[in-house]
Amino acid sequence: MSEEVFKKVVSHCKEYGFVFPSSEIYEGLGAVYDYGQNGVELKNNLRQYWWKAMVQMNENIVGLDAAIFMHPKTWKASGHIDGFSDPMIDNKDSKKRYRADNLLEDKITRYEKDGKTVKASALQTDLDIALIDNDLNRLKELIEEHEIACPISGTRNWTDVRQFNLMFSTEMGAMAEDADKIYLRPETAQGIFVNFLNVQKTGRMKIPFGIAQTGKAFRNEIIARQFIMRMREFEQMEMQFFIRPGTETQWYKYWKNMRMQWHEKLGFGSEKYRFHDHVKLAHYAIAAVDIEFDYPFGFKEMEGIHSRGDFDLKNHQELSGKKMQYFDSELDENGKAYGNYIPYVIETSIGLDRLFLATLCAAYKEEEISNADKKDTRVVLMLPPILAPYKVAILPLLKKDGLPEVARKIMDELKLDYNCFYEEKDAIGKRYRRQDALGTPFCITVDHDSLADQTVTIRYRDTMLQERIPISKISEILAEAISWKKLLS
Ligand code: ATP
Repeated sequence: MSEEVFKKVVSHCKEYGFVFPSSEIYEGLGAVYDYGQNGVELKNNLRQYWWKAMVQMNENIVGLDAAIFMHPKTWKASGHIDGFSDPMIDNKDSKKRYRADNLLEDKITRYEKDGKTVKASALQTDLDIALIDNDLNRLKELIEEHEIACPISGTRNWTDVRQFNLMFSTEMGAMAEDADKIYLRPETAQGIFVNFLNVQKTGRMKIPFGIAQTGKAFRNEIIARQFIMRMREFEQMEMQFFIRPGTETQWYKYWKNMRMQWHEKLGFGSEKYRFHDHVKLAHYAIAAVDIEFDYPFGFKEMEGIHSRGDFDLKNHQELSGKKMQYFDSELDENGKAYGNYIPYVIETSIGLDRLFLATLCAAYKEEEISNADKKDTRVVLMLPPILAPYKVAILPLLKKDGLPEVARKIMDELKLDYNCFYEEKDAIGKRYRRQDALGTPFCITVDHDSLADQTVTIRYRDTMLQERIPISKISEILAEAISWKKLLS
């Protein structure tokens, strides 16, 4: 898929009510987006897919909904106050700010595209080393050596590379003078860590067990790019799996596989995903791997799986003075209880917005459907039916002769189970196309024959086939096709 198609996906999102720029009437706000009437449905369905796969399908994983605001010490303990920063560089002519590592990554992609694979891999190695050493001067040198110019000004007039903390801060309390500085959470994970004992004790959870959470996270990204790929306000779906120390390799492998399978079940093709092991590990990690998706602009991170050891719980224990231990009464090979310890953690962390974008890019198809009489194309979202914003559209052929009444009756029945779309206006072909563009898997058309014989036409999105069926059979057909079972089993 090319960048050209990506542009089409972005405008499709706007045109069909999936995603709008935030506060658009005021020219928008950088890297902040709103989900429209169809986007919110798809997003909710994707979130549900994750939640069901994590919480409903695993007896030893439970949910949580922690607040966005947390005690400021949380972020000291987690390492975000001291270590959550990106290397930035400014172009003195355009005054534009960039992430130094992103500029170099883009150069690597360019080398690869131009067939300069040796140069690409040499630069990748240099970049990895500079990032591991946290060597900001070296990053600048690499930008100069590879003659990287600012995309806006076209010049190579760069400042030095500096670190930039990504957390948003604000004050809590009515009086600014005695206000405490607090942060908008940059990840949801810490809400899980600080509640580890609450959940473990009240839920009588036994290790290994997990806590799952979805919610907003905020990062003051230096440069916003690629639509909803890198936002300043976004949503994460994270699961922390608490394990006995020494079992981390086994569980890391387990979750790596489980998460890949979860993605593949969406049916977009396994070639669209790949693992990418981290060379530069984040401050908390023992091991880390990304699941990358083949976006129109190349393979990019969609999900991270991290082996975090006891980094977070240990630091919270130190800073809060509260024990973060678990008593493991199971016996080891010598018949002795494992006893008290701070559990290790395997984390799976996926960005809901990046999943949304991947889903749309994979589902978006432009099909040639010309026949002998007419040249024609259609745009269709080939979404798994259970994820589609609307499951079925109910369309009376005409807005008269009692057809709307029959259609309304069908609608009233089906809407108890499904999100349904009802439309009377426009030629039927045009209405079908609009539903294709939203990804609606089924259209039910009510015509004059429906009055006589209680049948309707069902039209299938993927094949465009139309079939005559009794009204009494609609529910059965939908139930068979629209089910979580297909994704969860
Ligand atoms: P990146 O390297 O792309 O900045 P990251 O490694 O910092 O991402 P994590 O901290 O591992 O990301 O966060 C977990 C997930 O949250 C990511 O895999 C991604 O899907 C999502 N995510 C992170 N930052 C953003 C953002 N600015 N906008 C949208 N999603 C994000």
